[in-house]
Parts: sequence; structure tokens; C-alpha cells
Amino acid sequence: MGKRILIVGGGLAGTIVANGLCRQLGQELRDGSVSITVLGTSDTHLYQPGLLYVPFGRIRESELFREQRKVLDRRVPYLIDPATNIDLEAKEVTTESGKTLGYDYLVIATGSRIMPQNVPGMAEGAHWFYDLEGARRMRDALDAFEGGKIVVNVNAPHKCPVAPLEITFMLYDYLTAKGLMKKTEITYTYPIGRLHALEPVGEWAQGEMDRLGLKYETFFNTKEVDSKAKTISSEEGTTFDYDLLVTIPPHQGAQVIEDSGLGTGGWVPTDREKLLHDGSTDVFVVGDTTNIPISKAGSTAHFEADTVVDNLSSLITEGRWARNYDGKVFCFVETGMDTGTYVWFNYTTPPNPGPPSQMVHWFKLAYNRLYWLSARGLL
Ligand SMILES: Cc1cc2nc3c(=O)[nH]c(=O)nc-3n(C[C@H](O)[C@H](O)[C@H](O)COP(=O)(O)OP(=O)(O)OC[C@H]3O[C@@H](n4cnc5c(N)ncnc54)[C@H](O)[C@@H]3O)c2cc1C
Repeated sequence: MGKRILIVGGGLAGTIVANGLCRQLGQELRDGSVSITVLGTSDTHLYQPGLLYVPFGRIRESELFREQRKVLDRRVPYLIDPATNIDLEAKEVTTESGKTLGYDYLVIATGSRIMPQNVPGMAEGAHWFYDLEGARRMRDALDAFEGGKIVVNVNAPHKCPVAPLEITFMLYDYLTAKGLMKKTEITYTYPIGRLHALEPVGEWAQGEMDRLGLKYETFFNTKEVDSKAKTISSEEGTTFDYDLLVTIPPHQGAQVIEDSGLGTGGWVPTDREKLLHDGSTDVFVVGDTTNIPISKAGSTAHFEADTVVDNLSSLITEGRWARNYDGKVFCFVETGMDTGTYVWFNYTTPPNPGPPSQMVHWFKLAYNRLYWLSARGLL
């Protein structure tokens, strides 16, 4: 029997790993010395960053989805059969349909999910754009909004480190264009003592918010939302009234991670350079589900996935490690409806956001289309 590579999770990271391995292990796949299988939850692949544009009617929903079967290399069996238990001792994964799949190498790529239910009142009182249903409801709420108090409330941990800033700046431009900003107050809340986890980004964001006249509150760890009184309160004792509450809900990793005893909150303990499950030599962890204190972002998942592909194929074909992950992340940042900037950083180099420009905004829009090439591993 050849080496069996099992990838749990067919989102961004799992898909790039599978497609990348197919490119590097073509001969081995042909002669049967390697097989690659992906386990997923759905027949569709969602381009999550596109959700940012849904509340403003700036993207067609059809642009957000592709058939997962068509995004994955045809040599990879894709089973829509979620993992229910991962047993690292037995090297087996059990699925919802009752299958037990053995592996020689496992790649855990189960991502993260929003948990508005973790904050009392949040699910009832808040809007969000982190899933399609939420983004549609937020679009309807924005259509009906006639001015008043908006609170943009950020909870941690969350994926896409810059999306809360992007939605804030886009709201400002959107409401200005509708003539509503004159009678609107936007307050941005953040759980730590600055406006972003990355200090240079926080400083830059504070300058932008001061320039636009947006309010902000740091050290705001959300305690509860009262959807009847339309208030949101923090553990620190601050309360804001709102007419429209836009929240980035707290996140957790996948349930199967907790159920398998692999990591608290669904975050898998991971070596930040080797991207191996701590203590393992045959279990790779990639994307949002790692516990590495680094931005949970598509670009992180992409750069990590490339590293895993190089190492896994090198281990199989040459018996040696290829390279370590250096913490590289690159994110475009919308700074309004028609300007953008970008940040890149790694474990040793901090980010340094540049002045916003229309050109970077257009790059981001172009990338929204190119994503599908990126997921196929062609970019
Ligand atoms: C609104 C929004 C805007 C964003 N903007 C950006 C951006 O501008 N730039 C950027 O870099 N990133 C952005 N992101 C973040 C990016 O989408 C994620 O970080 C990225 O998708 C992470 O990839 P992943 O493979 O780890 O997780 P995912 O892509 O979420 O994939 C995880 C997969 O695992 C599957 N899964 C879960 N449990 C199981 C199970 N038990 N068995 C089998 N499969 C399972 C899930 O169904 C899912 O398909 C944004 C996200 C959102 C929501």
C-alpha cells in the first residue's frame, strides 16, 4: 500500500495543500505509491473575503461560490463526510457516515467558525458579515438605515485581522455617499489597549479614524448585548447605545478538534515553523485552526499551505525536510469604497501600512477574481 495522505477540511488551506501535492507528486500518484483524500462538509467552496462586499451590494453572490469538486484536482477523491473524531494514536479519522480512514500523513485544515452565541444577546441584537446569511441581513439593515449610532464591535479571536477596519472605513464612505454620515456617529470598539492587535496597524488605524472623525473605545471586552434596549456593554463597565450594531463575533476552531481532545477552543497546538502538531512528525496543521499567535487569514493559510506542500512532498520523495514557515502574511486592506492599502509582515518584520491609493483597491478587486486560480494552486 502506498503512502496515504488524508486532508481534513476542504476550505482554502486544505484545497491548496491537495492541489499543490498533486503538482509535486504527479509520478507517485500515477504509480500508486501515494494517494491523497480530502474530507469536507459541503459541495461548494465559499470565497469568504468576498462577504465584505455583500452588505454594500458590491458583489454578486454567484461570485462567492464554486463547486468544490471543480476547484480540487481531479486526482483527489473529495468526500463530503465530516470528520467526527481524529485519533492520532491509531492514525485514524472517523467520519459522520461511520467510515474509518487510516493515514500515513494527516493534514488538519478545519478552519474557524463564528460563535455569536458565546456572548449573551449578540445573536439577537447584532449584525455581522462573516457568513452569507449575516451579510445579507446586514445589507437589508443598511438599506433601511436612516442615520443614528453605529457601533462596530470587534471580538477576539477572529479571522481576517483587517476586516473590522475595512468594514468601518467602507461604512463611512457608503453613508457619506448616501448623505447619511452627517447624522451618523460610528464607534469602533476593540478588546485590547489599541485599535488593532498589530501595533503599527493600530497606530495607522487611529490616525485614519481621527482624520474621519470616527470614535473608538479600547479595552472593550463584550459582556452582553441587550437587543430590546439596543445597548452593548463591556466587562470593563462601558455601555453604548446603538441603532445598528455590527459585530465581528468571537471565533472557535472546529468542533471535531475539541471532540478529539486535540486543542482547547478548537485550536490545535502547532509548531510555528514546522507547522506540525506539537510532538508529531506526521500530522501537519494549516490555516485558521493552528494555535499560532499570528493573523488568521487566507494569505496566512496560503503561505502555510505552500510550506506544508514542500515539506510533505520532500519527506515522501527524498526523506528530508524542505523548509520552515517564516510567518509570512500579506493582506490587502480596503480603506473605503474606492481606496486601499496593504500590509505584509512575518515573524521578524512588523507591518507598515502605506498611504491608501485607488490602485491598491483595484488590486484587491482583481484578487477577488484571481482567488480561484490561487485555490487551484496556479497563483
Ligand atoms: C468576511 C471575511 C473577510 C475576509 N477577508 C480576508 C482577506 O481580505 N484576506 C485574507 O487573507 N483572509 C480573509 N479572510 C479570512 C480567510 O477567509 C480565512 O482565514 C481562510 O479561509 C482560512 O482558511 P482555512 O482553510 O484555514 O479555513 P476555511 O477556508 O474556513 O476552511 C475550513 C474548512 O474545513 C471544513 N471543516 C470544518 N470542520 C470539518 C470537519 N469536521 N470535517 C471536515 N471538514 C471540516 C469547513 O467546512 C471548511 O470548508 C476573511 C474572512 C471573512 C469571513
